[in-house]
Amino acid sequence: MEFEAVIGLEIHAQISTKTKMFCRCDNDSFDKEPNINICPVCSGFPGQLPVVNEEAVHKGVKAALALNCVIPEYSKFDRKNYFYPDNPQGFQISQYDEPISKDGFVDIDMEEGRVMKVRITRLHLEDDAGKLMHVRNGSLVDFNRSGTPLMEIVSEPDLRNAKEAAVYAREIQKILRYVGSSEADMEKGMMRFDASVSVREKGQDILNPRAEIKNLNSFKSLEAAIEYEIERQIEAYSEGNPLKSPVTVGWDDEKKITYFMRDKEESDDYRYFPEPDIPPLYMSSEMLEKFRNEIPELPSVKQKKYVDEFGLSPQDAKILAEDSKVAEYFEKVVELSKDAKKAVSFITTVLMKHLNEDYATIDNQKVSAEMLAELIALINSGEISNNTAKGEVFEEMYASGKSPKLIVDEKGLKQVSDTSAIESICKQVIEANPGPVADIKAGQEKAIGFLVGMVMKESKGQANPQMVNDIIKKLLA
Ligand code: ZN
Ligand code: MN
Repeated sequence: MEFEAVIGLEIHAQISTKTKMFCRCDNDSFDKEPNINICPVCSGFPGQLPVVNEEAVHKGVKAALALNCVIPEYSKFDRKNYFYPDNPQGFQISQYDEPISKDGFVDIDMEEGRVMKVRITRLHLEDDAGKLMHVRNGSLVDFNRSGTPLMEIVSEPDLRNAKEAAVYAREIQKILRYVGSSEADMEKGMMRFDASVSVREKGQDILNPRAEIKNLNSFKSLEAAIEYEIERQIEAYSEGNPLKSPVTVGWDDEKKITYFMRDKEESDDYRYFPEPDIPPLYMSSEMLEKFRNEIPELPSVKQKKYVDEFGLSPQDAKILAEDSKVAEYFEKVVELSKDAKKAVSFITTVLMKHLNEDYATIDNQKVSAEMLAELIALINSGEISNNTAKGEVFEEMYASGKSPKLIVDEKGLKQVSDTSAIESICKQVIEANPGPVADIKAGQEKAIGFLVGMVMKESKGQANPQMVNDIIKKLLA
């Protein structure tokens, strides 16, 4: 029997705001002492009134627009009731039946140019819970995270394997970063995944009961957990023991297995009702238009543009478009130098190699787009060779932040393009190498390379190699 997996993802991403979702506590608690960014609202004191953070709504809507979602005129918040010690209110404020956005999609690039559409059910806003720490003689709770603004992005069950799920998750991360709605830094817990997995016989059109794998916090564990769960379910199904009702499972990252946590709660279990302390959100068409205009050109669009307009390879286009800061830098260099080919070559091979070695980022290093464009201009005008530019000059620019012109002058790196100076070296070299000269005259063109090399050596690499080549040919003609 052949099986296929049916996978949907819920992605929680922290919205990058200054303050929390419903109070004015600082939203940045990374590496902070426990319980310092808290107030009566986010630590759940009775009778406190939540106030919606406008920045969180703004950034949530921007993300939703970038994910091609529809934004209804009205939306509202609801209480999702459940008890857990890290959730002092006894409920989470989320959005149930009228979220700020719905019905979107993203296109993802799979292997060999296969583009796949993944439908997005909704993106809604909610707040996060606190954090429990289990110690030897009890449990401690830290409410710094409580009230952190989140967007939850729910996909339709359109994914069929772990690879597709991972590519989709990375695409979402890229888009959230591009529009500035979330830093989506997995290491800081800013983005996490719940993956719903079920299997069915190939060719069937039904949705079997699923296992929801909770709280996956890296792309690696996302892929591994889905792969494991698919295998596990296929085996159970083949043994006549398929899932009979939905379950919630966890992922053990050390043993690399999923484990049963509980039967899955259905929405009835949460007793959703409209949050009485928050009025409905109204999105005017003017506001929506304003937000729409703030959406930058997205990576997939840039990637296509780089291939079509600048003649880049799809791989190079992808590397440059992936990070908005790199893309901005690249476009600036092209604008100034009018040489996309050299720009891509310097950025992807020379500059990125240094950045990787130094764990640096493009906006946190000394070679500005203006400097790189100037360097390219020096090559194109024949003042320095490509090798000198990529080697000595770039190294010095990167280390000191000096302009390439200044470096070329200081180090005397200018190519000699003075015909008479080159000609006299060529003559000496021809004189001193009768053997190769005879070979050339006998029709062995290859020997020219040897003579050019000798002239380059004599000139300490400063002669313009193309001119040397031409002059030797002329002298021996
Ligand atoms: Zn607070
Ligand atoms: Mn949620």
